[in-house]
This record gives sequence, structure tokens and C-alpha cells, in this order.
Amino acid sequence: MLLDGTKTAQKVLTRSIPRIEALKKRGIQPKLVIIMIGDNAASLAYIRQKQKFCEQVGIIYEQRNFDTSITTDELIIEIQKVNTDASIHGLIVQLPVPKQINIPLIIRAIEPKKDVDGFTAYNIGKMFLSTEFEHLPPATPKGIVELLEEYKVPLEGKEVVIVGHSNIVGKPVAVMLMNRNATVTVCHYYTKDLAEHTKRADILIVAVGKPKLITEDMVKKGAVVVDVGINRVEDASKKQGFSLVGDVDFDSISKKTSAITPVPGGVGPMTVAALVENIITATERLST
Ligand code: NAD
Repeated sequence: MLLDGTKTAQKVLTRSIPRIEALKKRGIQPKLVIIMIGDNAASLAYIRQKQKFCEQVGIIYEQRNFDTSITTDELIIEIQKVNTDASIHGLIVQLPVPKQINIPLIIRAIEPKKDVDGFTAYNIGKMFLSTEFEHLPPATPKGIVELLEEYKVPLEGKEVVIVGHSNIVGKPVAVMLMNRNATVTVCHYYTKDLAEHTKRADILIVAVGKPKLITEDMVKKGAVVVDVGINRVEDASKKQGFSLVGDVDFDSISKKTSAITPVPGGVGPMTVAALVENIITATERLST
């Protein structure tokens, strides 16, 4: 079975529309601002998708572009402008940012109530407590959980193995699944025998950024595989000269799994749909 993120994301968006209508009836128009530094091609592709989804449901989208020479202090001033503007409900600082930018200081500057990416300590801390406090959880983990729930993949008591321990995917998805009573193992670059862990997984979630890191022999028969990775690999047959692939060897592994996400069309659209939900939640909570 294919865990279809494109189709499920559309369902999530459709479900969101009545919430936006209710806000509009009260004269409130949800608005997202994305701060974009430079012109990284992959980032531009991601934000185009965010713009498309926002416009589809009636969220105002504004992009503020800055040169790669921007300093941390200048960026913090731009963040504060958004923080104090009551007409804006969501703020994203599109990653990656140039090397001179101090990322922890930038995240700290974002008003947690407008932190629709769910990166601030406040929102991460709330997510830690229980599912009831997941008001603005990180978008990719939220999208992964919603995709598993849509396909009725049971989580309680299941062996979940996560490969990758970043702050935006691996660690928060581990917490969200623990809060749903899964037994969670988190692997990463320093894990001694990766395959020994992955082979035990009922649900395997891979968020690394290395094509074909996970091969068929590393997956248990009947497992559910969620491939978060997005990698550009050279492909002369494509007009743009590359294709997008995940971290798992899809062709061989998909024959063995009970369910698997495609790349593209799996976690990517779910992340953007989860972001849209976070913008709506932020608007509702700022407007009570
Ligand atoms: P990151 O670079 O911050 O972290 C990578 C993680 O992989 C680290 O925990 C590292 O220890 C681990 N790792 C590296 N090499 C490894 C190896 N050989 N074996 C085991 N673990 C290894 O990554 P990130 O920001 O979480 O992103 C991971 C991937 O997911 C990237 O391809 C990124 O583009 C993609 N991504 C996709 C979405 C989406 O919406 N689909 C969202 C975020 C990230």
C-alpha cells in the first residue's frame, strides 16, 4: 500500500476550510509571512508549495526577501516587526540560512504564538508533555503522524525505529510517537549497527538525507516505512537534470513492506498541510 501524502494533504486542507470560514466571519484573515534569505533553489521550491497551499485555503501569504549578507541582528529586527504586527499570525524563517546567522538566537527571537514551524523551545516543550498540548508542533512530525493516522496504522505498542535525530524531524517525531504509546528507538550517525535496529521496526521512519541509505535487507517483512528524505540525484532523462529521491531504496523495499511513502508525494505535502493547520491554530489562539 502506498501512503499517499498528496491525496491525504488535500483531505487535510479540505478539513481546514470551515475553520478559516469561521475566522473570516469574525473579520479575521489568517496571514503567513515567510522570511527568505538568498535564492537557494530547493528552498524556493518548498516555499512555492507553501504559497500554493495557503492560497488554496484562503490564507494571506507574504514573502519577505533578504540578501545573503544580512546579519543576525538585522534578521532579529525583521522578526520583531512580524512579532508585533497584529495582522500577521504565522512566521517562518526559511532554512537553511547563511553561515553567519546564529540559528538559536533567531529561533529565540520568534514569538512562540506565531511559530507555525514549531521550532521554539516553548512549542517543543509543550509538545513534550502530551498530545493535548500539541498546539503548534513541528510541521513534518505532525504531517507524519497525520499520514499514519489517515491510513489507520496502529501506533500503540508498536516498535518504531527512527533514523535521524534532528531537532526538526527525528527528535520531535520520537516524542509525538511516544506520546501515542509506541516503543521508540532513535538511531543516528553514531549508531553502531543500524541494520540491527531497523530490522526490528514495525514502523521505520527515515530522515537522514542520504539516497539508498536503507536497503531491502535492513527492513522487516510487512513493515510500514516512512521516507522523509528529499535528495536531488542527477537524472539526464529529466528536463531539470535531476530527480527527487528519498533515503530508502524504494524499488526493492516496497515489495517487502505493508505500506510505504513515495518520494515525492509522501511526507513533503503532509508537512505543508500540517503547516497550514498550524497557521489556522495560531490565528485562532491569537484571536481569542
Ligand atoms: P539533518 O541533516 O539535520 O540530520 C540528519 C540526521 O541523520 C542526523 O541525526 C544524523 O546523525 C543522521 N545521519 C547522518 N548520516 C547517517 C547515517 N549514515 N546513518 C544513520 N544516521 C545518519 O536532517 P533533517 O533536517 O532532519 O533532514 C533529513 C532529511 O529529511 C533531508 O533529506 C531533508 O531534506 C528531509 N526533510 C524532508 C522534509 C519533508 O517535508 N519531506 C522536512 C524536513 C526534512
